[in-house]
Amino acid sequence: MEKQHESKRNRLVLVMYPLQGHMNPILDLASVLHSRGFSITVAHTTLNPPDPASFPDFTFLPISDGISTWDISPSNLVNLAYTINRNCAAPFKGCLSQIIHQEEQHGRVVCVIYDFLMHFAETAANEFNLPSIIFRTSNAAALLAFCTMAELSAQGQDFIARDSPSDDLVPGLFPLRFKDLPISSMGSLEKFSQLLAVVCSSRSSSAIIFNTTDCLENFPLTQLRRHYQIPFFHLGPLHRMAPKKPTNLVKDKNNCIKWLEKQARNSVIYVSLGSIATMDEKDLTEMAWGLALSEQPFLWVIRTCESEKKQLPEGFHELVGERGCVVEWAHQIEVLSHPAVGAFFTHCGWNSTLESICEGVPMICKPYFADQTVNARYLTHEWGLGIELGNVIQRTEIEKAVRRILVENEGVEMRQKAISLREQIKKCIKEGGCANNSLNEFVQFLSSFSEL
Ligand code: UDP
Repeated sequence: MEKQHESKRNRLVLVMYPLQGHMNPILDLASVLHSRGFSITVAHTTLNPPDPASFPDFTFLPISDGISTWDISPSNLVNLAYTINRNCAAPFKGCLSQIIHQEEQHGRVVCVIYDFLMHFAETAANEFNLPSIIFRTSNAAALLAFCTMAELSAQGQDFIARDSPSDDLVPGLFPLRFKDLPISSMGSLEKFSQLLAVVCSSRSSSAIIFNTTDCLENFPLTQLRRHYQIPFFHLGPLHRMAPKKPTNLVKDKNNCIKWLEKQARNSVIYVSLGSIATMDEKDLTEMAWGLALSEQPFLWVIRTCESEKKQLPEGFHELVGERGCVVEWAHQIEVLSHPAVGAFFTHCGWNSTLESICEGVPMICKPYFADQTVNARYLTHEWGLGIELGNVIQRTEIEKAVRRILVENEGVEMRQKAISLREQIKKCIKEGGCANNSLNEFVQFLSSFSEL
């Protein structure tokens, strides 16, 4: 496409939530939309800001959030969403007003696209008579589960009792069981239920975008279309649709790719729990001995925040020697796409799930909180790409799972399924595929705002 001067393009304001798993997909979305002729402003909190140098085509707009530091742990996540929505509403309004009035310089703002957890952005957009669009960084099945939970809650059903999760299937949500519902331990149940009601509502927004694809989530997308009365666009997997790779908060400074180069094809288990979930010391020890007992090569990410506080068991490094590589951060997409990686031990965050599927890598699933339980269930019981682990991490269970997925026939079959799904997704994002068609429709939808 011919490069237009920024001031002549229509401008989109994208409002980002400050967690890695939300930042990566919204930056991918921004890259996709920029390549389709829009100017991009990324509004972000001052907590965990993105690196503007990695995206020279975008304008970055810091919103003062009044948060100096935040312990980003699962039990603190609901509070984080509340605090950001409370603190950022007024500063964002000010910022938005400013860029709206700089039309000559920046182009006309036609729409605000906001992460579903940044709902204050919708109120601000309304004040300036701008349309707003919700961006769901997680999958459709998780939203469907959240909506069902909100309905059950409104009917007064006590499905939320954390101590007695049931194995029964949830009516209308096959293959999810009650124990797969994303209740978790993200803070006070009362606040969680209130947040649930907010994130399930489309408010006055004009459309919803998903980082998913019809070939993965046809059933939940169809159900949700019935539930919501506004247009839906499934534009994922965005990291594959985007012309440019997103940046990570922590750069990949280690030599894990060099280490992977020395390993045989499909021989390595890659272990990572994303950017928030952590193992306690006991689980870390069981994991370490499980990997050691499996006798398979492993690449294990233990983030700095964990390694500062917890020690791997004595004698572990000596025992595994060159067979193991432990790092504090890895460029995950690069790792998963490496031919030596045969399987992924994952917490089943949605980005990790999509990234692994897109590389044809089967998974051992150990979900922790939020949508991860839903994703794990889909991986193991819908797509057949994952092994489900029990709730308690035990070394013998880890050893067995690693061998099943890397050495035994079961793993070979799962890898074949993963590769077949990868190929289907490749078709979806090509010209004429469902994700590509959805993107074309979305761009047309956005362009209709500039005629208003
Ligand atoms: N990630 C990475 N290196 C790591 C761990 C995570 O690049 O060592 C990236 C990963 O590729 C993914 C994101 O961080 O894009 C994590 O998102 P996800 O939804 O999987 O999990 P979350 O961190 O939100 O729990």
